Amino acid sequence: MQNIFFDNTAIEIYGEVQTGNIRHVVFDFDGTISLIRDGWQNVMVPMMVELLQTETGTTETQSELEALVVEFVDRLTGKQTIYQMIQLSEEIEKRGGTPQEPLAYKDEYNRRLLPVVEERIAGLAAGTLSAEPLRVPKSLEFLRSLREMGIHCYLASGTDVEFVKNEAALLGVAAYFDGGIFGALREYKKFSKAMVIQKIITDFQLSGSELLIIGDGYVEIENAKTVGAIAVGVASVEANRYNMNADKRERLIRAGADIIIPDFREGVQLLNYLFNS
Ligand SMILES: [Mg+2]
Repeated sequence: MQNIFFDNTAIEIYGEVQTGNIRHVVFDFDGTISLIRDGWQNVMVPMMVELLQTETGTTETQSELEALVVEFVDRLTGKQTIYQMIQLSEEIEKRGGTPQEPLAYKDEYNRRLLPVVEERIAGLAAGTLSAEPLRVPKSLEFLRSLREMGIHCYLASGTDVEFVKNEAALLGVAAYFDGGIFGALREYKKFSKAMVIQKIITDFQLSGSELLIIGDGYVEIENAKTVGAIAVGVASVEANRYNMNADKRERLIRAGADIIIPDFREGVQLLNYLFNS
């Protein structure tokens, strides 16, 4: 696929974007703004492999199970965590086991992830950790510029909403989301990124070019393209020992991203591009 770098930047332009009309911007959280949960795969994958070993009589090897888990966890990233747990339950059932409720697995995952996240959150709350290295580079500055321009900003995350609100506050970005902060609910059918996007379009009677979606997951990029919104893919780097999402940039392009950025370090140039009518 031929790409065009905008104005000597690392900003890649793929789509024919109608710029200059954007009034509302929806952001993903983890990997797009926050790095607090970076490394979550190192917790989820071993937990699932362990459950497949202990709750089924499978003869598959550790590495076979790991490959299976890595594939579906990676594929379902960006949706609510519960969908990864639903798949785990199905895999346990397929192997003759009797799975627990997916929600129970999700609770267990959150319990195991907590020490990793908690250390960062406690450090942020106590002021011993600085927020800046836990934000995707220059994301706060980018948000601030949008708000100064009078653009409405929203946060929509597949992570549980109470965690997202707390972590956004600790990172110093919560106040910029004048449109609201949305996240996963225990009644998981009552939330999806697509639902948030659809509500904004309906409430403000938007046409596609008035809405911008920014995220590092193919889910939100697909959601954006479904409604004709402009999609910016953030090909941010993730730390996990399984090399998961190593092809993030390609995946975002395949999902239909109009623009690809590595992070917001060239946010000024990105704004110039997006708001230049
Ligand atoms: Mg994300």
